[in-house]
Amino acid sequence: MDFGLSEEQEDIVSVVREFTKKEFDIDYTRECDQEHKIPLELYKKAAENGFIGVHFPEEYGGQGLGIFENTLIVEELCRADSTLGTAAFIPKFASELILRFGDEEQKSKYLPKVASGEWVSSGMFTEPNHGTDIATSDTTAKKDDGNWIINGTKTFITNGESAYFGTTLAQTKEGAKHRGQSMIVVDDLQKNGGISITDVGVKLGIRCTSTCEVAFSDVAVPEENLVGQENRGFYQAMEFFDESRIEIGSQALGIAECAFDKAVDYIKEREQFGAKIGSFQATQFKIAEMATKIEAARSLLYRSAWNFDQGRIDPELTSMAKWYAGRVAVEIADEAIQLHGGYGYIADYDVERIYRDAKITEIYEGTKEAQKMVISNQILGKL
Ligand SMILES: Cc1cc2nc3c(=O)[nH]c(=O)nc-3n(C[C@H](O)[C@H](O)[C@H](O)COP(=O)(O)OP(=O)(O)OC[C@H]3O[C@@H](n4cnc5c(N)ncnc54)[C@H](O)[C@@H]3O)c2cc1C
Repeated sequence: MDFGLSEEQEDIVSVVREFTKKEFDIDYTRECDQEHKIPLELYKKAAENGFIGVHFPEEYGGQGLGIFENTLIVEELCRADSTLGTAAFIPKFASELILRFGDEEQKSKYLPKVASGEWVSSGMFTEPNHGTDIATSDTTAKKDDGNWIINGTKTFITNGESAYFGTTLAQTKEGAKHRGQSMIVVDDLQKNGGISITDVGVKLGIRCTSTCEVAFSDVAVPEENLVGQENRGFYQAMEFFDESRIEIGSQALGIAECAFDKAVDYIKEREQFGAKIGSFQATQFKIAEMATKIEAARSLLYRSAWNFDQGRIDPELTSMAKWYAGRVAVEIADEAIQLHGGYGYIADYDVERIYRDAKITEIYEGTKEAQKMVISNQILGKL
């Protein structure tokens, strides 16, 4: 068993680090956070540098690498900055639904445009009345003369304001609950007259992303837009979460490291009682605990990414990694604020922003409670 990164993986990390040093600017980060700006140009640059879709096969614009390499990229982007790091990778969110379940035509149509940064993608599962419980969908898709006619409302959709396409989960067999849902890809979201997209409003963190309600009113898309198998959408979603939760875990890990780095820098400078606060043993113990938690989160996450790349779907391991990385991100950001004292509470020191950015990783792609449900269900089965 080898726990080290390969030379190629080390290179990926250094290239991303160089990129963030050149492209991430602290004033711009704060501006994006405060003014809710979505820096799509950064996503395009990340794509030009080959950071988007490394896990897509080469024929679809990727590099034929694994989820593990995607994990390293997302971690490193978010380590450099929780806000801009998120903005740089999230616009490709859920394009893996096409990668994993799409047919050849769909993969050739969508994936190269995502990998090149031309198209932004979205995944639409959540509805006003179905968040954690997506086993039923109020959104319906009915066949009519070669088309699906979609009606219903999805909410909290990341990239809603900028996505060219989105894959939505809809009920295609009435009353069949999770056995009657399908995934359908919808194009040209911003221009489709039957779709209304509204921002959900000011958010706690990740303000450099858009989060929208997407309402469908008699939206017709060709039957060929079915992604994967009819009435298997729920099962496909569960499989997708095994991948997407690793990605969000990577975001959480990077955010934890981002907060940790800031805390370490600060305690080496700040003096009280005539000494650096980093020289106090109580402070040193905090640093030791923070570093250990980050290392534990990284180990779990890397193992789950590696496991996925071996072709194994292991929801228990993935949920452990996602839950733990999210928890660690929030705890480390909290402790980073504490180590900054009053300054930690002030925007100019950035740790309050990192803390706000961290929290989402315990909510989206399944709340921490949802992850614990998956873990305990695997252990206990149905009691
Ligand atoms: C910024 C942001 C971006 C998002 N992006 C997307 C996106 O791109 N696509 C998408 O489809 N969704 C997205 N979401 C939605 C997100 O995945 C949901 O908010 C999340 O799954 C929880 O659903 P809910 O908000 O309806 O909460 P609820 O399901 O109502 O849960 C409320 C609370 O009850 C708990 N709870 C619920 N059921 C149980 C249970 N059985 N046992 C114990 N506790 C339970 C939950 O853990 C939570 O703490 C996003 C959300 C946000 C805030």
